[in-house]
Amino acid sequence: MMSKILVFTIIRDEQVEENTLGVLNKLNEVFANWEITAVLLGHKLKDDWIQVLGKHGAKKVITFDKPELEFYLSRPYVKAMLEIIKELQPKLVIAAGMVYGEDLIPRLAVHHGVSCAQRVTDITLDGEEIIFHTPVRDDQAMKVAKIEGLVKFVTSRTGAFFINENPTGGSPEVTQMDVSFDEEDMIVKHVELRKAEKTVNLKDAKVIVAGGRGVAGKDNFQIIRELADLLGGEVGATRACTDVHWVEESREIGQTGQSVSPDLYIGAGISGAPQHMSGIKAKTIIAINTDEGAPIFNYADYGIVGDMHVILPILKKKLEE
Ligand code: FAD
Repeated sequence: MMSKILVFTIIRDEQVEENTLGVLNKLNEVFANWEITAVLLGHKLKDDWIQVLGKHGAKKVITFDKPELEFYLSRPYVKAMLEIIKELQPKLVIAAGMVYGEDLIPRLAVHHGVSCAQRVTDITLDGEEIIFHTPVRDDQAMKVAKIEGLVKFVTSRTGAFFINENPTGGSPEVTQMDVSFDEEDMIVKHVELRKAEKTVNLKDAKVIVAGGRGVAGKDNFQIIRELADLLGGEVGATRACTDVHWVEESREIGQTGQSVSPDLYIGAGISGAPQHMSGIKAKTIIAINTDEGAPIFNYADYGIVGDMHVILPILKKKLEE
């Protein structure tokens, strides 16, 4: 019998959240011969979501469409997931490490009396054994682990896996399931969903121009902004800059900031501390630094040793031409 994987789908802003698509992409790479099923819980589920999941590699989609599941609540979601796990007997249950995934997965693991792997950045196979790779100790070391138990419960780190830009999957087979909830399941009520007033979503940016302490002042960030605008991208920063309010806190990239996976990341006046670089999974990294020994050059595809205050205006002029 084919081994099975269950992927918990996260919906955000009326769309399948991109980290779920990244997880599907990764699973299709690693588990080519396994049956990958996405599970979609909610109310008034959209066919578009099911089709997107299929396109990105879910061969099957299991849905639970109930008013009680309109908003994420631990108890009913756990109950529905336990139903599916019992029915499907997957070997791996995985959710993108957004807030919901990180709440749900440990609860499911506890129900099965096993531990789980949180925020993994890579998954590999050693024969039949699944291996999980998780950065630890401020991202300066990598934990490589197996999990006990018949079912492995896992979350992925935000931005850890690339999304396939040209997905070739087809229309998935859809199964509707049902579960009933009693008063105790609904003991916690959804009251209100309040959106943060102003957040910068760097995760979706295809281009990021980031500045570090070498920018040397709030006003000097203007050239970073102009370059980002010219390239149709976003401004990012290190904690050294957000701590002193040269730019908004939400633009911080790294361990305590956002994880990003742009096509192009340009880092100017940034040393390349592991806490910053761990948040970046870019296709191409360009670094500009006066110090040729700066660690960022170890990560960079292209490096320019020089003064960013001289180089960035030249780059801007060239792009305008
Ligand atoms: P610096 O390390 O001071 O580097 C500045 C660089 O600019 C130098 O390499 C210098 O050569 C270069 N430079 C100077 N002038 C110029 C010029 N004119 N032109 C070109 N180059 C120039 N940091 C984050 O960014 N994100 C995080 O999420 C994060 N989380 C952290 C969590 C913990 C628990 C801790 C302890 C730290 C964390 N940090 C984080 C901080 C991190 O360790 C570094 O201190 C920070 O990233 C350094 O920022 P920087 O590269 O801008 O500054």
